[in-house]
Amino acid sequence: MNLKNFTWDLDSDGLGVLTWDMKDKSMNVIDESVGQDLNAAIDAIVADPAVKGVVLTSAKDTFSGGADLTMLERMGATLKANFKAKGPDAAMVDFFEQTRQFSLVIRKLETCGKPFVAAITGMCLGGGFEITLGCHARIASDNPKLRVGLPEVKVGLFPGAGGTQRVPRMADIQSSLQMLLKGDQLKADRAKAMNLIDEIVPADKLIEAAKARLKAGVDPVKPWDKPKFKQPSGPIYSAAGMMVWPPANAIYRRETYDNFPGARAIMSCVYEGLLVPFDTALKIESRYFAHVLRQPQAHAMIRSLFLSLGALGKGLRRPAGVPPTSLKKVGVIGAGFMGASIAYVTAQAGMDVVLIDRDQESADKGKAHSHKLMTDQVNKGRATSAQREALLAKITATPDYAALADVDLVIEAVFEDPAVKAEVIKKAEAAIRPDVIFASNTSTLPITGLAQNSVRPDQFIGIHFFSPVDKMMLVETIMAEKTGDKALATALDYVKAIRKTPIVVNDTRGFYVNRCVGNYIKEAHLMVMEGVPPIMVDNLAKQAGMPVGPLTLNDEVAIDLGLKILKATKAQVGSQAVDPQQEKLLTFLVEQEGRVGKKAKKGFYDYPDTGKKTIWPGLKTFVGTQQDPDTIDRQEIIDRLLITTALEAARCVEEGVVTDPREADVGSILGFGFAPWSGGTLSYIDNIGAKAFVAKCDALAAKHGDRFAPNKLLREMAAKGETFYGRMAPQKAAA
Ligand code: NAD
Repeated sequence: MNLKNFTWDLDSDGLGVLTWDMKDKSMNVIDESVGQDLNAAIDAIVADPAVKGVVLTSAKDTFSGGADLTMLERMGATLKANFKAKGPDAAMVDFFEQTRQFSLVIRKLETCGKPFVAAITGMCLGGGFEITLGCHARIASDNPKLRVGLPEVKVGLFPGAGGTQRVPRMADIQSSLQMLLKGDQLKADRAKAMNLIDEIVPADKLIEAAKARLKAGVDPVKPWDKPKFKQPSGPIYSAAGMMVWPPANAIYRRETYDNFPGARAIMSCVYEGLLVPFDTALKIESRYFAHVLRQPQAHAMIRSLFLSLGALGKGLRRPAGVPPTSLKKVGVIGAGFMGASIAYVTAQAGMDVVLIDRDQESADKGKAHSHKLMTDQVNKGRATSAQREALLAKITATPDYAALADVDLVIEAVFEDPAVKAEVIKKAEAAIRPDVIFASNTSTLPITGLAQNSVRPDQFIGIHFFSPVDKMMLVETIMAEKTGDKALATALDYVKAIRKTPIVVNDTRGFYVNRCVGNYIKEAHLMVMEGVPPIMVDNLAKQAGMPVGPLTLNDEVAIDLGLKILKATKAQVGSQAVDPQQEKLLTFLVEQEGRVGKKAKKGFYDYPDTGKKTIWPGLKTFVGTQQDPDTIDRQEIIDRLLITTALEAARCVEEGVVTDPREADVGSILGFGFAPWSGGTLSYIDNIGAKAFVAKCDALAAKHGDRFAPNKLLREMAAKGETFYGRMAPQKAAA
């Protein structure tokens, strides 16, 4: 066999091993050539009477990461071109055929008459897992990193190569729907319990076990290709089906608010597909797949959550001329809430940490945080006590700045006070080597101002973490006026080392993420002051696709922090910079009522020791009359929350705070969960269209005030019919 991506080895028993091994890639992915190879291999295997059975495996530790999503982008581009060249009908017919090619190849494998056993070496996701589901048996290696799953829904798609049809014909319907809708990656034992894997064997016995199974006899006809096939959970139109589908629909709505075309398609494919024979079911799935692929949400999600996220993770913004840094030891100054967590994630990434605070007791307290987080992991069975001790051994807690003598990077996270920070910068710079980069984790103080305290401002940068540090995947790196390439490269190398995603922003009050999220929360405050029932504000935000309502978010971040920032802004920028209604509300909550948020168990909500949080009734009394919920325009509430946030992102672009739309989009989704279905703040505007977005802003400004006034950039884009991704194309081309 002459295959580009596979090798073929036939033994004297007539058992062949087809090994997937893409030479130029670290991981096997599905592109056009893989489908062609597989198709040719099946033809050759069927034509060769010597072949009795086939083991399909991978030469790599991972079986497959799934489809190469750039292939889907290419299909979209072909469709666009065909629309013009052939007209919409012919273009769609082509697109449908093209997008189902891979599904048909898997079906051909499944019905070719010879048994295929998948020998799964490790991670096996998406289209890769769909190939194995088409095989007649699946054996998994006991590789602890092995996961199988269909995570397509997470990038706005759904499994379109038979996954929505084979899974619910093999596993029970509840587990199937949950797996498909959540995009869960399952460990081998869970997949086996669901009947998706037949056997788990030691890694070095994988091929042997697959061949033994073939020798023992593997039926090359799938149960659903035989008469009288019974679905594991029974037919849809049955008493059992009635128990499943109505609640399944309700859960689907609760979890997605119907915002994701991919998730909706999963529900439709499974429901409709289980009512018909298998080949018709695959056709139904293919129809939905072609439909979903054309949705702007899918396009935007693939772009932000796969392509841009990947590019940023690989160092898209790293200055090319700076050699890679090797960070072995990092100094963290300030062992409080943030510093303690920064020390933890740094040690987790294998680096040594010097954790400094004002006295030994405070430094030790910061280190104890790592002890607690690791103990939680040990209790959950995710780490061993030895791993905990090894991690703790990496952290040296001390008040002595001299311990910074051999660190490769310093990050300060002391009090948000310019005088304290100035003193810390001086003391640290006196202790570190002259080549070491100094980073500040400040959330509100301009980095350029802080850098004035530094004797080497070109080596000064902002590395802004988000809380909780161990969970939040985004880090903003902030360029001050004089920050040099080496500082940026070091900061990006560090963020990569701790396996988080960096965006690079220029220095401004609130940087990028907090400016956007600040607007989101502020709009909610103003709504509360207008008499919109607070619970409605949070619920409509979730309907809009935000993971957390703004009032809940504010309770979690702390309301006193918001008031502090408001006061600082007023003092430094002037009273016109703050909204009096917002100030009134926060002052009342914090200073009069001591309602500082979840940490005090009282904020916008009351947090009882047992049971669910409920909106604090005193809010209603303070605001006065509440509007009748039935008279409130829900769409307008949703628009206000999303538009004020996206508008701030557009202002950040105009001011040069963000310079690449991919960073704005990824930052908004990872930083505060901006409606992921939209692809992020700028994709949200691009998909509405600048002209329509400006019209919406103008209408909101007329009704609610100047904060909705579109900026000059947006007006210009509206006049020219531009998009952010089109306008900022040079940056895009740099990828
Ligand atoms: P914190 O009050 O919990 O911790 C500050 C720590 O700094 C304390 O342990 C304090 O003892 C120590 N400290 C003060 N002066 C010091 C000195 N001279 N030398 C050594 N240690 C000193 O505060 P935090 O919430 O961890 O915030 C720290 C920084 O991180 C601030 O700049 C803040 O703006 C920023 N930040 C906070 C968040 C957040 O969610 N809290 C998020 C991003 C950034």
